[in-house]
Amino acid sequence: MIAKVITDISLDREFDYLVPPELENLIRTGSAVTVPFGRSSRTGYVLSTADKSSYDQSKLKYLSGIARDRAAIPGNLIKLGKWIAEYYCASQEHAIRTLLPAAVRSGKVKEKTCRLYSVSDRAEAEKYIIEHASESRLAKRVKLLQMVLRKGEGAKADFATENDFSASAFDALVKSGLIQMREVAAASGFDESMEALPDTPLVPTADQKKALEQISEMLEGKTSSHVQLLYGTTNSGKTEVYLQAISKVLAAGKSAIVLVPEISLTPQTVRRFRARFGSKLSVLHSRLSDRERFDEWNKINSGKVQIAIGARSALFAPFDNLGLIVVDEEHDSSYKQSESPRYHARDVAVVRGKLEKACVILGSATPAAESLYNAQQGKFLLCRMAAQVDNKPAPVIRIVDRRLDAAPEEGMSNLLSPILIHAVEERLERGEQAILFLNRRGYARTLCCPQCGFEARCPECSVNYNYTYSRSREVLSCHLCGNVIPAPHACPECGFQEIRYFGSGTEKLESCARGIFSGARIGRMDSDMMRSAEDYEVVLDKFRRGKLDILVGTQMIAKGLHFPGVTLVGVVNADLGLSMPDFRAQERTFQMLTQVAGRAGRGERRGEVIFQTSRDSDVLKFAAELDFDGFSKFDMEFREMLNYPPFTRLIAIFFKGEDEMKVANYAEEFAAKLQPYQHDNIRITAPAPAPVEKIRNQFRYMMIVRGTGLKNIREAIRVLALHHPAPNGVSVAVDVDAQHLM
Ligand code: ADP
Ligand code: ZN
Repeated sequence: MIAKVITDISLDREFDYLVPPELENLIRTGSAVTVPFGRSSRTGYVLSTADKSSYDQSKLKYLSGIARDRAAIPGNLIKLGKWIAEYYCASQEHAIRTLLPAAVRSGKVKEKTCRLYSVSDRAEAEKYIIEHASESRLAKRVKLLQMVLRKGEGAKADFATENDFSASAFDALVKSGLIQMREVAAASGFDESMEALPDTPLVPTADQKKALEQISEMLEGKTSSHVQLLYGTTNSGKTEVYLQAISKVLAAGKSAIVLVPEISLTPQTVRRFRARFGSKLSVLHSRLSDRERFDEWNKINSGKVQIAIGARSALFAPFDNLGLIVVDEEHDSSYKQSESPRYHARDVAVVRGKLEKACVILGSATPAAESLYNAQQGKFLLCRMAAQVDNKPAPVIRIVDRRLDAAPEEGMSNLLSPILIHAVEERLERGEQAILFLNRRGYARTLCCPQCGFEARCPECSVNYNYTYSRSREVLSCHLCGNVIPAPHACPECGFQEIRYFGSGTEKLESCARGIFSGARIGRMDSDMMRSAEDYEVVLDKFRRGKLDILVGTQMIAKGLHFPGVTLVGVVNADLGLSMPDFRAQERTFQMLTQVAGRAGRGERRGEVIFQTSRDSDVLKFAAELDFDGFSKFDMEFREMLNYPPFTRLIAIFFKGEDEMKVANYAEEFAAKLQPYQHDNIRITAPAPAPVEKIRNQFRYMMIVRGTGLKNIREAIRVLALHHPAPNGVSVAVDVDAQHLM
């Protein structure tokens, strides 16, 4: 018997080994094995077994044994991994690696705590960066510090994925106190302690009944598709449908996976599942310790639990009798992984369902264009739930055109229109709460000299307005690379004293609100303010308990939070996202606006929402009507006209490196090699600088392949990217079904 084995450093190649006769009954697809490799020995996984090898069998070596310290991967997951590697143009070892949590893969399990690192003091860190920016001796530390500033709190593993990571520099920063470590009990910030009282299924509404009937048919294999798109308005009772569908699956002796966006994997969500299913449920939260993750994985693998709930990676829960996968908020962009393999959990869920004869429910109030299209084409079943369970009136949404405002009085900031100011004042008088939302942090976006026209830009990155000015800390920081410089008080070019800051962020919004609403208690929530999950909880808790009147924030406050006291939401720049050079800009703006609007009027009183804008936009009009059908029709027409997904498939290929000529040349060369695969239904756009041309001194080029029948060209791209090394200093990233074209 021959085993085809992939090791951690296989470079997308499987190697054939002979299986010793005494192991033949033990070795199967997914087994963890040790193999001789050159002069050393390595651990790997068996991708498949065969009777014969295509190599000269007399030259093959025997594998040494089964790796006892590692878990085997269920064979069905290996199949899924292979599909991921092929479809997403990723290497097989990357794909296989995503199937298992690190602790299970390495067999190393550490203590029951997890260590989280963050910058101890933002101002100190920025001072360090500014002072040592030009010392090559400390270059690594400066880069690391910038990275930690940019990413916020995380485990070491979260940082180690970055290119510039250096373990010794990291440790030095921890030692010097610039980076702090806190050891938290694993799964902290995740309070499940509140005993979930067992609860029983609710009597389904008419809509829920319809949905559940379709699901029953689907589970019995009587429908034309194994996927249901559950397009249900917020509060239409989707979650109750998931719960009852899962009960059916369990009753049939099968298991279920529930995927939720990381940000909505809150104790409230989990409590609802826990209350219904108790100890049958495994929660795969990002803050689990290695030990807990290892334990949960084994509970699933050994059949001790029947349901797994978690973010993206919970999709790989090792059930071997899967009956159902639920993908909640299926439109959420966090389902796409940004590193290789760049897979989309929703799409892979559909594939896993197909491979394992399980059904899939995709739930959303604002389905992705791709999913709606699949439903229209008959590939998915469609189920609409339009009625809200509680019949709470929708908020009143108004669009305020800033161009019609009277000029603001001398010295008054014009971030808030008189209408919005008046609405906030009303809330303050009535003792109600308001949220002011602006999707940009910081004080200002750009620094200009009115005399010579100088504009400050991060020298390592190319985009305009990438600097964020923080007035409280007197620095400019780049949101792309984390670079920090002291904020100049005079123009660095001509010395003019009255240099000006333009554009505004949440920091300015906060100070502006303090000026206008004197006496109000105001809090701010954005990634500048929030160092850790605890800071986040403190502000939210204060707001929830009514200790704050106004909450100012970025998109962090948009998702899923429930504040009964909020009766007003003001979106300061509702049209902000529309100018992004990306065909999904409209979709994202619509989703963001309706989500934010949903924060108003969750309690007794009807909510009010104000969208401030300085342009006319159909997207805003549809959002103000909460008219998803109207928006979707409009957006689909636009995408069809320009031939974008879902009407076509799209692969983005990014090239980057420090030497722009080299990057450009290699991109051209790569494109030329794809020419033979071009056919009538494929369009290849010539490589060109990406909209974000440069990040941390790396030039970025992008080319896009669009069309139908991409299989052959995708395979060619995969081989070129993985098996034809790019010149030194150039790297290639392939993003199949890319969600961001920046
Ligand atoms: P969605 O997931 O679509 O936003 P939920 O399932 O969370 O909706 O339901 C919204 C609210 O309505 C919840 O508080 C839930 O407990 C309640 N609810 C859902 N279905 C029913 C039902 N059949 N009868 C009574 N209340 C229900
Ligand atoms: Zn930068």
